[in-house]
Amino acid sequence: MSGDTPAPSPSSLSAATVVVHAGRPPHEPDQPLNAPIMMASTYVAGGDLEYGRYANPTWTAFEEALGALESGRALAFSSGLAAVSTVLDLVGRDALVVAPRHAYLGSIGQLGDLEARGRIKAALVDIADTAAVLEALDSSPDGAAILWIESPTNPALEVADMERLIAAGHDVGASVVVDNTFATPLLQRPLELGADIVLHSVTKFLAGHSDLVMGALVVRDDQLYDVLKGRRDLVGAIPGTLETWLALRGLRTLHLRIERSQANAAELVHRLSAHPAVTEVRYPGFGAVIAIVLDGADRADLLTHSTKLWVHATSLGSVESTFERRRRWKGEATTIPEGLVRMSVGIEDIEDLWSDLEQALRPVAG
Ligand SMILES: *Cc1c(COP(=O)(O)O)cnc(C)c1O
Repeated sequence: MSGDTPAPSPSSLSAATVVVHAGRPPHEPDQPLNAPIMMASTYVAGGDLEYGRYANPTWTAFEEALGALESGRALAFSSGLAAVSTVLDLVGRDALVVAPRHAYLGSIGQLGDLEARGRIKAALVDIADTAAVLEALDSSPDGAAILWIESPTNPALEVADMERLIAAGHDVGASVVVDNTFATPLLQRPLELGADIVLHSVTKFLAGHSDLVMGALVVRDDQLYDVLKGRRDLVGAIPGTLETWLALRGLRTLHLRIERSQANAAELVHRLSAHPAVTEVRYPGFGAVIAIVLDGADRADLLTHSTKLWVHATSLGSVESTFERRRRWKGEATTIPEGLVRMSVGIEDIEDLWSDLEQALRPVAG
């Protein structure tokens, strides 16, 4: 009977298959192929769900899929920054948090806010400088509470020596958190390298269509899972059901989107490196985010306002190509060049993307 056919076990399959199959209802007659949208605030008492702040079957489907991809147990949150806040809330008074100086602005903002209110001590380091990270981890006699890794960083695109740093963090008793938003679990799986918590802005590549804001945490340790789930229950930083359903729908094509946008990114890196208007191209060698440096803010602004296809917009990881001059944000680190333009490469035709850039770069070079 087809009713006895189990859904395929995700662990034995490649990521390209897991991303399509994980988190589906069982293969039984009249089961839908997609997890339905469960719009419910309360459930008849006596079961596992009880109330809409504690559980939702649509979240569970998304969490099963992301958990299978990252080899852990996932929890969905209302935004990436809600997930960041949930993790940082676990840190005790006066504890040390070591983090990249070029981490996501909102993550840096939360660290600065907690430090200003006397809650924690934050040490911001160049995450690509392993010796500097080790020194910061050793700077407190009590060790560090958290080593926060973002790799590649935003928008400098520095890459951390992940395995070395995870081991060093554990040596001083720190929990190691990896913001895996830029790489996605298809290109990098930090839990398999020993990290304690993986964080995502689901808003970006995982959802991939510029149509929702959502976050997630993924862990391996059951006790840590219970603590984080308990925090989500208590604080209520839960995602909307429709957003979660859309994120799961977006996730199904992640491997195709990454494959195409990464190939586009690599080709653009090649062509931009040879362009006279571009003084520097930064690309970590994987993923779909690149950064170019033009000679000053004015030239970069001219570029971002002269394209027809490339959209001048913040955020990244969607099907359409977007870019922005990062220093237009007041809070951006002053170590980021004024003329740096972060580019999130989409899945469009490469020649269309290139000719649009080329015509916009012409007056910049002149
Ligand atoms: C966008 C982003 C965040 C924050 O996520 P939101 O969903 O916008 O709250 C965190 N980390 C990185 C690397 C991001 O790009």
